[in-house]
Amino acid sequence: MSLSFEKMGLQLELLDAINNLKFNEPTPIQLEAIPSLLAGKNVLGQAQTGTGKTAAFALPMLQQIDPEDRHIQALVLAPTRELAVQVAKATQQMAGNSHVRILPVYGGQSYTIQKKELKRGVEIVVGTPGRMLDLINQGVLDLSHVRYVVLDEADVMLEMGFIDDVDTILAEAPVDRQMALFSATMPRAIRKLADKHMRDIHEIKISPRQVTVAETEQRHYILREENKKDALIRLLEIEAVTSALIFSRTKIRTQELADTLNAMGYKVDALHGDLNQSRREYVMNRFRKGINNILIATDVAARGLDIENVSHVINFDAPADAEDYVHRIGRTGRAGRKGIAITFVTPNERGRFLRIESYIHQSINVANIPTKQQILDYREKQFITRLTDLLGKGNIDAERSIITKLEETSFSMIDITAAAIKLARETENHVVIEEFAEHQSPRKRNSNKKSFSGGKPGSKYNRNNGSESKRSKKSSQRRKGSDELETGMVRLRMNLGNSHGIRPGDVVGAIAGEVGIPGRAIGEINIQNDHTYIDVAEQHASNVLKASTGKYSLRGKPVMLTKDK
Ligand code: ADP
Ligand code: MG
Repeated sequence: MSLSFEKMGLQLELLDAINNLKFNEPTPIQLEAIPSLLAGKNVLGQAQTGTGKTAAFALPMLQQIDPEDRHIQALVLAPTRELAVQVAKATQQMAGNSHVRILPVYGGQSYTIQKKELKRGVEIVVGTPGRMLDLINQGVLDLSHVRYVVLDEADVMLEMGFIDDVDTILAEAPVDRQMALFSATMPRAIRKLADKHMRDIHEIKISPRQVTVAETEQRHYILREENKKDALIRLLEIEAVTSALIFSRTKIRTQELADTLNAMGYKVDALHGDLNQSRREYVMNRFRKGINNILIATDVAARGLDIENVSHVINFDAPADAEDYVHRIGRTGRAGRKGIAITFVTPNERGRFLRIESYIHQSINVANIPTKQQILDYREKQFITRLTDLLGKGNIDAERSIITKLEETSFSMIDITAAAIKLARETENHVVIEEFAEHQSPRKRNSNKKSFSGGKPGSKYNRNNGSESKRSKKSSQRRKGSDELETGMVRLRMNLGNSHGIRPGDVVGAIAGEVGIPGRAIGEINIQNDHTYIDVAEQHASNVLKASTGKYSLRGKPVMLTKDK
């Protein structure tokens, strides 16, 4: 461990814990905040996500706790349940072997458990403002011994509408307590709150330049709005994306993009302000477990999120201001890992982008979206790599025996191999690479196939079996004849349609997810005005019918499926 943590005057047990956590040296915010807080000062810290704020307030807090005194001595207020749990966990780790008890409290959890724990005695309570205030008002959370109060992610609490609750809690805590307030941005309301509740403020601001780290490769692409989706699809294919956070401007755009990508088979979830806490958690859990590896979010929704590190941050819509840019890309390139931050900039957003560059004192490379040919070449290269890998591994005896049979036909070995390759590569074309839209007159643009046609009445989406995606030209030819059911499929009728805002991505996601069947078991989807026909593989049909009796909903409406006669 470097000397710097040791020089701060932290207790031995805390230094041990820091050692166990493998924190070699303090981050800039820790370097400034820890000594001030240990000296009893009130600290107002502005620093982006990922700068190590938890340890900055938790270490001095732990040092000042007396584990023998079973009263609540410190409060930490956090905007969301996830963050409260995360902070409580991190603080417990820093507490090491000491017997400090830390209790997270948040809405949705049973009061009985929280009350029981509070009665047994805890030293530190970490919680969301609403639930904390509830418990204070019920007289079970006693503030009279509180000596240390932390507001973590204060700007998020403001955005989520908790500021009045926070104000009330602060007003009820003893006046001589010490306080630390951390925020990524410093809106006027937060400043006012600090001035009201904190005396002799020691202000710390970690400049964004220290945040945009060398481990993050930053790039931008200049492109027109109508080409963004196709550009994104190309990049997702060619970049080594293990996990991505994609930022979009509005709730609607976020959901639409998620629907589009979902329908193309990407593992995507949308996160926006309309989702309730349990849905947010569900989505975050899927992301953490890797069930989905792409999250599409608005700035506000992403703010309160505990996302450790993603391989890519993609600004599908350029951020409105420079601080948001720094905040967004802070989700990648963490903890010494390499990250990539990509920003789409439309021609008339160039001025805004220049301001971002000047804010971070860095110029960001401009790159070109891979061309269709580059993607096709890339696919070929990938295929050859996979094929030669397999040849190296062997284990292809079963296939050899098929070749023996084929040798008896009149085809040449070259033709047989070529046909086999064609078959093997069919799935590649599930993601169709479109030519970029060139400038078109508005009227022509209406009929442009490339704009994703959401749920137009009568639109059909062929999901599997075969080489074309629902966006390919071939599938529009198939539409006419595809009223017949494919063999092995059963046609079901859903009570919701275009007028309910239903999109193909929703349907697949909801049914496959809720019933627990693979997405590929769902075939053609034909969205009508007030109902939708859905083809489902025979062996799954009865399960789907049993589970789809109004028990789950789509776009807020209960889903009912019946067999189509
Ligand atoms: P913030 O609250 O500013 O977003 P966190 O406190 O959650 O940041 O810390 C982000 C990550 O950095 C965590 O995984 C944490 O364990 C790690 N971390 C914090 N301080 C250090 C340090 N001094 N050295 C190495 N890693 C650290
Ligand atoms: Mg934090």
